[in-house]
Amino acid sequence: MKAVAVFPATRDVKLIDRPEPRITSPSAVRLRMLEVGVCGTDREITAFQYGTPPSGEDHLVIGHESLGEVSDVGAAVTRLRRGDLVVTMVRRPCPHATCKACRAGRQDFCYTGDFSERGIKAEHGFLTEWVVDDERYMHRVPAELREVAVLVEPLTIAEKALEQVREVQQRLPWARSAGPSARNGNGRQAVVLGAGPVGLLGAMTLVAAGFATTVYSRSSVPHDKQALVGLFGARYIATETRTMAQLAAELGNIDLVYEASGASKVAFDLMEVLGTNGVFVFTGVPGRKAPIELDADLIMRNLVLSNQVVLGTVNAGSNAYEAAIRDLGEFMKRWPEAVRRLITGRFPITGYRDLLLRKSVGIKSVFTIG
Ligand code: BGC
Repeated sequence: MKAVAVFPATRDVKLIDRPEPRITSPSAVRLRMLEVGVCGTDREITAFQYGTPPSGEDHLVIGHESLGEVSDVGAAVTRLRRGDLVVTMVRRPCPHATCKACRAGRQDFCYTGDFSERGIKAEHGFLTEWVVDDERYMHRVPAELREVAVLVEPLTIAEKALEQVREVQQRLPWARSAGPSARNGNGRQAVVLGAGPVGLLGAMTLVAAGFATTVYSRSSVPHDKQALVGLFGARYIATETRTMAQLAAELGNIDLVYEASGASKVAFDLMEVLGTNGVFVFTGVPGRKAPIELDADLIMRNLVLSNQVVLGTVNAGSNAYEAAIRDLGEFMKRWPEAVRRLITGRFPITGYRDLLLRKSVGIKSVFTIG
């Protein structure tokens, strides 16, 4: 079968031929891969800045945003049947008995760093024709979400972030006593930094949760992000048109910043205008660039005097996958056009060079495999 792999030692990215995987354990499921999305992480891996092949191998099959269709199941599989659509989780637990996170099934919080990630770290990924994995890592997707289900994995980033923000904000005594409604946005101001797929999916999640949501980003031609963002009830403000101080003056207290740009300078500048009792969530992984200058005293003063929280989050646990599948269904009911517009191109696996090695264009590019 075909697969796209990176060979770090020789700095090659190639379409290779591999043996088809077979079911070897009773709880295993074999998937025909349908679609695989491309994200910044894949581009970093193919630029050899990130990613690790499985131990003892010279290459790593990439791809971690996936949609597959069940073709065969092991004898002990109970939840999945042939024909089901499935999104498979990325991260696998570390082996250490002392890692509370992994032992609790929350390898997204792994303490040891010895977790693996399919298509990223020590396990082959999904940019291939057939995949076998354990049923426990698979989440069933309703058939009506087929055309957009490849967005589930990037959406889990927002789902986990929001779950964390809700937990964190339970620190506010009136939120604790107000019950479940306090877990919603209730019109509080959220700013999303960045209008790539993670930012836009994050903005949809925040709007759906009841936040007054503003996407703050560089305007990008030819994509009319302003119109796209308007389709789902958020506001778009281009960084060129407002300084951060103007943004804050216009919005009032900024309760939440959801950073999805991976750009440290603009992120820390935005942190300077985070509001009282606000939470700043980082989801982007910056590339290695020169150190930046920032007003650390101002940031530190604000953090202390305004009870702020800075939170980093890497996706994602099973609950975030389930929430993402639920929310994607909700988004498709409310804003089908906006969701569809996030996928700006579909390409055959043979087009891997254009998609992975050239400058990224559009919002979300997807490989169509099966
Ligand atoms: C993936 C995550 C992964 C992270 C760090 C992201 O692109 O979506 O699943 O944990 O990269 O490797």
